[in-house]
Amino acid sequence: MALRPIVRWGDPVLHAPSAPVTEIDGSIAALVEDMIETMYAAPGIGLAAPQIAVPLRVIVIDLSVGKDSKQLITLINPAFVESSGEQREEEGCLSIPGFGGSPVRPARVVVKGLDLQGRERTYTGTELLARAFCHEIDHIDGLLFVDRLTPLKRDLLKRKLRKKARAGDWEEE
Ligand SMILES: [Zn+2]
Repeated sequence: MALRPIVRWGDPVLHAPSAPVTEIDGSIAALVEDMIETMYAAPGIGLAAPQIAVPLRVIVIDLSVGKDSKQLITLINPAFVESSGEQREEEGCLSIPGFGGSPVRPARVVVKGLDLQGRERTYTGTELLARAFCHEIDHIDGLLFVDRLTPLKRDLLKRKLRKKARAGDWEEE
């Protein structure tokens, strides 16, 4: 296992769709281990592979941040089966430290994907778990929460982020 650096807003890998995993082999297992370690160390409740500069459709989520192993979700090639309702709560992102926003998200989602053994898994999420699925699946589609804000808020935040990215001073947050 290894901690990997988390890439920040402005890095091209975060702003382009990631590729599906075609074979779940040892390299994918190693990637998932690194993602989990990096998520816990941050600490965060979710991480997508492009956030550690790997453009593949792999996400990990753990609302307990390592306290309850039953809450750890690893999904390869995740996709929405259903989504309904609406919620709007504050979100942050490990790739945008120091900033938050409240995009509109579905209140409930059903998501399916593969686990590390290649078995199909289906999860239903409401509240925070629904937001986490949406946030992480957005990442593998090349979208960040910023892209989901109203145009006015999005433009304001993007101006600030461009300044941060130019100065490279994320660490000060
Ligand atoms: Zn994020």
